Amino acid sequence: DAMEIDKEETGEKQDISGYKGVWVLAEQRGNKLLDVSFELCSEGRKLADELGTSLSVIVLGSDVKEEAKELFAYKADNVYIVEDEELKDYRTETYTAVICDLINEFKPEIVLLGATHNGRDLGPRISARLDTGLTADCTKLEIDKERNILLQTRPAFGGNLMATIICPDHRPQMSTVRPGVMEKAEPDHSKTGEIEEIEVEINAENVNSQITDSGKIINLKSDLSDIDIFTTIKEIVKEAKASVNLEDADIIVSGGRGVGSPENFELIEELATVLGGEVGASRAVVDEGWIEKPHQVGQTGKTVKPKVYFACGISGAIQHKAGMENSNLIIAINTDQDAPIFEICDYGLVGDLKKIVPLLSKAFAEL
Ligand code: FAD
Repeated sequence: DAMEIDKEETGEKQDISGYKGVWVLAEQRGNKLLDVSFELCSEGRKLADELGTSLSVIVLGSDVKEEAKELFAYKADNVYIVEDEELKDYRTETYTAVICDLINEFKPEIVLLGATHNGRDLGPRISARLDTGLTADCTKLEIDKERNILLQTRPAFGGNLMATIICPDHRPQMSTVRPGVMEKAEPDHSKTGEIEEIEVEINAENVNSQITDSGKIINLKSDLSDIDIFTTIKEIVKEAKASVNLEDADIIVSGGRGVGSPENFELIEELATVLGGEVGASRAVVDEGWIEKPHQVGQTGKTVKPKVYFACGISGAIQHKAGMENSNLIIAINTDQDAPIFEICDYGLVGDLKKIVPLLSKAFAEL
């Protein structure tokens, strides 16, 4: 039990009594808030209401005030912004230092952040520095009213069971949530509020945060001198906009982990080209980096309804089916005759896709 070991090692138990309120760490790119921030704000509202506490959203950036106002429409009680040229783009050291300062000062009981690339980098840093727990990739968050504790549920063992994780003795309770998992509420633009600005002074040696909260000025100093490398961002290269349009495609040929390697994806692409269709993918192969995210079909990818959907080397996990089961005709190719995809397909081919897909390409090309 990690918690027991922790207690044995340090011999101390954290005093968690002063921790109040739900926090969302919003994420911006180019001063525009990501959708996941609004999703977490909507979810955070529910948790705060259950606990009878307030919801605060924190935005770090260089010119975020206008954009941050929108958070009130998602029923944030407080919106704190920290603006500085140094915070324009995400950097692990500065973001960690400023956020840890804020958490130590305001003591929120729950902190939520998106399981984006940045969130996955930032979350563990913060939790380690604050000596608290973090549950990654939560799919459900609830309050156990009896214990006033956050129940953080996430898939475990490859999605075969759902594990509910708690952080009983440390605060804040921290969770990351993937984009698209929580529902974004309808914005209510009649709700407005005053944004609170927090001033920071950042240099390579330290971060001085001056928190102006209701006229009160608190000086914070985070020491960055123990960090060997202070990252400088030289260039930000935007991902080329994918031309894939899965939603409107009549035919989609999707590949999953069964494709075996990124090179083998050419087989999938070839069949899609012959049929004049688009290439889809399961999340497993997107996570592997075999194909880009815009190709992903499923709960956290695209929802598609083509005339024909080929599922090649895809097991048929519930999250994949959620995005494609309404296709008119489903053709599955899989070596495992018990694969769940066969339960929803119209035609099932049991066999090696590396043999079957080229045969299909050849046959359709000859038509
Ligand atoms: P696997 O499950 O590993 O299946 C590979 C299949 O290939 C197997 O059935 C195997 O029999 C077959 N195979 C192996 N070799 C061959 C061969 N030579 N020829 C033919 N068949 C072969 N998944 C999504 O796809 N989309 C989502 O949007 C999505 N969102 C998710 C959201 C959440 C919150 C969570 C928890 C999970 C999500 N997932 C999603 C992941 C999902 O649970 C599965 O892990 C994923 O779909 C599995 O991908 P796969 O079928 O390619 O791989």
